[in-house]
Amino acid sequence: MSATVIDGRDAARRVRERVAEGCAAFEARHGRKPGLVGIQVGEDPASEIYQRNKAQQAEEAGMAVERMKLPAGTTQAEMDALLDRLAADDAVDGMLVQLPVPEPLAEPAIAAHIAPSKDVDGFSPVNIGHLVRGEPCLRPCTPSGVMWLLDDAGVDLEGANAVVIGRSVIVGKPQALMLLERNATVTITHSRTRDLAAVCREADVIVAAVGVAEMVRGDWVKPGATVIDVGMNRLDDRLCGDVAYDEVAEVAGAITPVPGGVGPMTIAFLLANTLQSAERRMGDEPTRGIIT
Ligand code: NDP
Repeated sequence: MSATVIDGRDAARRVRERVAEGCAAFEARHGRKPGLVGIQVGEDPASEIYQRNKAQQAEEAGMAVERMKLPAGTTQAEMDALLDRLAADDAVDGMLVQLPVPEPLAEPAIAAHIAPSKDVDGFSPVNIGHLVRGEPCLRPCTPSGVMWLLDDAGVDLEGANAVVIGRSVIVGKPQALMLLERNATVTITHSRTRDLAAVCREADVIVAAVGVAEMVRGDWVKPGATVIDVGMNRLDDRLCGDVAYDEVAEVAGAITPVPGGVGPMTIAFLLANTLQSAERRMGDEPTRGIIT
């Protein structure tokens, strides 16, 4: 194997440490902790685990966390009323609704209703709009984490060919915008892209956010390229990414593993967004070194 392994666990730990310092300073200034509310609807076991992990890490960073569980069958009107109540609660700096949500709820309606200033997932149309315009906002956590990893690994994005595989609102599209903002030449690819392997072979940086196990093969990658694997898939009872790790690591210059790459960064940036939201709401200077 020739590639440098980009260690997302260590990077996430360093981000969380900065967030914890910021939370301690915030509490010293304002006599309260930054407040995060996580809303879960129904009993999806994966959502339960995600929510528990987020709550635990937020508490460890020095946040006041409330987990709310709503029954499956919760209506949009009931959800809207809760989101309104939390929007008006001064002790709440950030809120998120764990996805996917069961019917009759729908993610677009939730994203449209959540208060943009407390939307720590960064999915609301207002925050996505600010991102498109290059304005300060709460940005989606996973692509923010990817940018941090690229910077931490010293990857030069200026003028680089960056290929993003996937065009979801959660990862692919905001990822492309963030790379573009850093002056990469960005290609967004998806399920209808012709000859994806050939497109990838031109890339200095590949970000794979597809949801297809080990799709990116060794012969798709230019020697020395940086490969960031956002995917989280189950294959033969093990967790794997969208990248065929062993093959690609022979060719790439740097690569993120799964697990232990992008995954830990997502929660770290959820915490970073919550702190940022709290600081903005109180008119504080942002804690340095987390959100660039
Ligand atoms: P979506 O299913 O919303 O989007 C997948 C994207 O991949 C779509 O744009 C789709 O194209 C494209 N795609 C699907 N199949 C192919 C193919 N064969 N060739 C090229 N493109 C294809 O997924 P998400 O963006 O939400 O997530 C992507 C992956 O990242 C998943 O594995 C998910 O579990 C993981 N993830 C990991 C996170 C982390 O913290 N590590 C956080 C969020 C997601 P089209 O639009 O044409 O359908």
